[in-house]
Amino acid sequence: MLDIKDKFLSEKELVTEMLDKSKFLGEKSINNNASEIIQLCRKNKSDRTMLDAFLNEYGLDNQEGVALMCLAESVLRIPDKKTRDLIISEKLSAGSWIDHLNRADSIFVNASTWGLLLAGKVVNTPSEWSDDPYNFLSGLISKSGEMPIRNAVLAAMQILSQEFVIGKDFRDIEKLSNLENESYSFDMLGEAARTMRQADNYFNAYMNAIDEVGKLNLIKNLNNGVSIKISALHPRYEMRKFKDLESELIPRLIELVHYAHSKDVEITIDAEEQDRLTLSLNIIEKLALDKVIKNWTGFGIALQAYGKRSINVIHWINKILDKREKMHLRLVKGAYWDYEIKHAQVFGYEDYPVYSKKSLTDISFLLCAKEILKNEKIYAKFATHNAHTISSVHQLGQGKDYEFQRLYGMGELLYQSAEKVLNLEKKPSVYAPIGSYKDLLPYLVRRLLENGANSSFINREKSISAHKKNKINAESIYVNRDEKEKVGQKVYSIANNEEIGTAIFDDPTNVKSALENFASEKWSKYSVQERSQILIKISDDIEKDPSELIFYLLNEAGKTIQNAIDEIREAIDFLRYYSRQIIEIHGKKSLQGPTGEINKISYSPKGNYLCISPWNFPVAILIGQISAALACGNNVVVKPSENTSILGYLIVKKFHENGVPIETLQLILGDGMYGDVLTKVNTIHGVAFTGSLPTAKKIQTNLIQHHKEIVPLIAETGGINAMIVDSSALLEQVTDDVVRSAFDSAGQRCSALRVLCIQEEIYDELIEMIKGNMEIQEIGDPNNFSTDIGPIINKHALQKLNDYIKGCKDQGMEVHNCNNSLKETHMSPTIIEIDNISAIQEEQFGPILHVMKYKFDDMNSVINQINESGYGLTMGIHTRIESRADFIGEKSNVGNIYINRDMVGAVVGSQPFGGIGLSGSGFKAGGPNYLLQFLNEKVISKNSVAFGGNTELLNLQEDL
Ligand code: NAD
Repeated sequence: MLDIKDKFLSEKELVTEMLDKSKFLGEKSINNNASEIIQLCRKNKSDRTMLDAFLNEYGLDNQEGVALMCLAESVLRIPDKKTRDLIISEKLSAGSWIDHLNRADSIFVNASTWGLLLAGKVVNTPSEWSDDPYNFLSGLISKSGEMPIRNAVLAAMQILSQEFVIGKDFRDIEKLSNLENESYSFDMLGEAARTMRQADNYFNAYMNAIDEVGKLNLIKNLNNGVSIKISALHPRYEMRKFKDLESELIPRLIELVHYAHSKDVEITIDAEEQDRLTLSLNIIEKLALDKVIKNWTGFGIALQAYGKRSINVIHWINKILDKREKMHLRLVKGAYWDYEIKHAQVFGYEDYPVYSKKSLTDISFLLCAKEILKNEKIYAKFATHNAHTISSVHQLGQGKDYEFQRLYGMGELLYQSAEKVLNLEKKPSVYAPIGSYKDLLPYLVRRLLENGANSSFINREKSISAHKKNKINAESIYVNRDEKEKVGQKVYSIANNEEIGTAIFDDPTNVKSALENFASEKWSKYSVQERSQILIKISDDIEKDPSELIFYLLNEAGKTIQNAIDEIREAIDFLRYYSRQIIEIHGKKSLQGPTGEINKISYSPKGNYLCISPWNFPVAILIGQISAALACGNNVVVKPSENTSILGYLIVKKFHENGVPIETLQLILGDGMYGDVLTKVNTIHGVAFTGSLPTAKKIQTNLIQHHKEIVPLIAETGGINAMIVDSSALLEQVTDDVVRSAFDSAGQRCSALRVLCIQEEIYDELIEMIKGNMEIQEIGDPNNFSTDIGPIINKHALQKLNDYIKGCKDQGMEVHNCNNSLKETHMSPTIIEIDNISAIQEEQFGPILHVMKYKFDDMNSVINQINESGYGLTMGIHTRIESRADFIGEKSNVGNIYINRDMVGAVVGSQPFGGIGLSGSGFKAGGPNYLLQFLNEKVISKNSVAFGGNTELLNLQEDL
């Protein structure tokens, strides 16, 4: 199998090797032939397909091209007219269509440009539009009667679709006139399955396709095949679900392949994304060596050359071929490049699994081709629309049996020209998507559109379970502690009830008296650079081996493995971000003033900070709070949640081991009562609190009642977080984002989605998809890699959630939950239907999602309901209409708004996090202003004249 270390090899290393191996490209005839092909294409450009001409003019490198692609992606699948009109209007008014007019030399393109120009002009009235888009649009529609613009755009998109998609079904295909002249590979393109039902549908569609292609081949004596995407056949096509895949997916694939074999219909299995490559190969190997088809040559795979391991895959195929008959291999450059790059960035991989430059992918394609052509047991199909690649492969493949492949609707002229220049014997085969335009066009176009980036750090895994043996005895750490305090409570894993250590809660009166009147200036005397260095050292230490923290995140906090890894990453990001930030803040010194006056600003620590953290991010939030306070030079007393004492203890120990003095960072273990005591201690100068709103209120009261000074409180609390989904949204993507936002971590995130507001036209379809996806979430022990949802933090919390659900049922609300046979520590994801957001009085900290239907015209009311809740933490918006997303974002009083993505997992530095209103006070954590809250600002204004004159003024006079 493949070696994981090859996945992220650095391009620098690879390039030297690649250059060495690609010397054959220096062959003059390759370039000469390629230019001859291109010239011939230019000469005969009137023969281009409509799609080629269209893409040539609009492409994706200009605003108009992107606008058209956005329209093509969405307009056919939006069910209601009003939303369609909005997106058409927005995309058309954004373009500068006049620039394209008469530039293209295809009549089709020019005709479309005229149409778009007219439409753009009619639609483009920006001020009225932005004041009240709905009103404006309805006025426009009534003015132009039957809305010819909408019809025109729909028609244009239909035409574009027909060019891409060979037919809706096999009846369409039978009618094609040139079926005998080409060899096809049909594909049921579409989304990866999100529910078992979708997977069933795809399975039936593939069976049907094999059947139909079999008949077609028989009647017309052809050799067409079917391409299969494994991810369409199971909603959880992931390595960590391998056990399920073995029993649920592989038998289905085998059934499909056997059926294809019985009909002698060629099958090509896609190797898919880089993160699933090993999994795909594992499954493909099982199929390739299956007894029934081992000697059948109709089996093959599709491989993406942009993957850094593409050559390794060919070596792997060579080995498989020692044990079976010939196979075919379709080599493509790869269509998911943007996805691969973004995915690697979001997950903080050490490098990309794909080449970052198109030119390197081109070379990789040719090196793969060279390798493939060496093995006569591989029948190669080279999928390319690039003249240079065609010419090079031709050079490599002299005397060998292989074929080229082109996309349906594209590249005809290119291959006609290549045939002439290179005397190609075989016509290229055609890769042809089948299905309704509504489903397929969005899929094809989306591949071209996806984009975006995020940044983070590298993570890796170590043996986590090794920590089972070491039970941790957690205790408070503070100066003047009475060492006799040794009676601890046993701590049991909330994941599997095994004993994981003990925690000692000291006598609170002793704690209070030890801390009262305590002072230390040691830490504030460290230079900013020294403090910053220590924080960086801690981050390096955690990064080097986070396995112990991960183990306790799983067992003390019930996090899944992925959640735990993400949390460690966030904690490290906090340490590094604040350590950089404090240096920047201290760098800013001088202020403006009149000549002769010097104004200087300086920052000093506030003194002693009390940090109180919640259990649900026991590593990241605790580290975020204390690293901020420490970076600023404060002493810290930290009280972790009583539910996660061991984690609190392990973290504070790490800080001490890396150079933070004990008197600077003191740890008090205990429950809310200890928090209450600490907020009354007379030496605190500020409190950083993250937790629930009622607790924040109690702390605020204590600070007012027990302190002479005005002690500042940074409070980060919960939310009733909403997501608005309109009918232009892509439902598969919404389903992924909703399920992750509402149910990941069993809904125990402050940012979790609590109420989903869906436009009525798509309500039923979306709810069905979400319910289907909820069913396949695995609920259980987070120590298992395949678990999606772990336990609820404790019995009390679980009881509270169940009582709430019961109360809703008693009030007659519709409640849906999918799994009733769970362990008593777990809870099934639940959906509750409501009519108005006001039905939710307070945050329910668990996997409960409220859903609500709204009408197109009621958007303002939905936004008002969100604002009236008083909370303002996170919000999600799913729409393809950018102006609408901006409008909703602007009108909502919410701290963090996420558009067309999930709404959890803020990244330090990229998405500073924190709410407003009932959701929190203070600047955002992980943002540029957070540290300022831990500092006193001092300004000194000096009249420098009084200290011996003003040279600036004297020089000025001389100049005069
Ligand atoms: P919680 O309010 O019960 O406890 C938080 C911390 O406060 C714990 O350490 C607890 O021991 C302490 N505490 C309890 N009573 C106290 C008192 N009277 N005085 C002082 N301290 C007291 O919250 P939790 O269950 O640990 O965490 C979940 C809550 O935190 C949710 O409401 C969630 O939305 C919120 N949260 C907010 C954010 C954010 O950034 N806005 C992040 C994570 C969690």
